[in-house]
Amino acid sequence: MHLPPSQLGPTSDEALMAIALREAARALQAGEVPVGAVIVDADGTVLGKAHNQRELLRDPTAHAEILALTQAAAARGSWRLEGATMVVTLEPCPMCAGALVNARVRRLVFGAEDPKAGACGSLYDIVRDPRLNHRLEVTGGVLAAQCGEILRAFFRSRRAASGNGGGGGTAEQPARR
Ligand SMILES: [Zn+2]
Repeated sequence: MHLPPSQLGPTSDEALMAIALREAARALQAGEVPVGAVIVDADGTVLGKAHNQRELLRDPTAHAEILALTQAAAARGSWRLEGATMVVTLEPCPMCAGALVNARVRRLVFGAEDPKAGACGSLYDIVRDPRLNHRLEVTGGVLAAQCGEILRAFFRSRRAASGNGGGGGTAEQPARR
């Protein structure tokens, strides 16, 4: 999908996060953990956008970021995504952070932090590890309240559906997946 340049302007992180949030909402409707991602070229062209589809695809790697990266590589005809920016509603996990490094993505923008599984500053900082051969520029906390709220809504409804709080969960902090 290509946005017409007139709508791009200086594509702000917030505008891109709004796209990622719409993807997260689609995941929510589908009963998936609501995480959404969009990846754009240096000029703001959308190369890929996706939401978590782990349940639908029965695939542990079907996180929003991985699906968006795969689309972007197909759009570019290359696994190298230099110059690209990944925008995702939740701080990426170790798998996705590793994929971002491997893809040579230039910049990562995320919404909510993930203290339980985040690998971009919370538990690990894979995307800025000087021992690896590529590092990303990172901006966290963009529209964090909205990004976190959709996750909390999902886990609240899931607890309600399972009746009485579910088994030994950890209440308010949304674990990602
Ligand atoms: Zn992930």
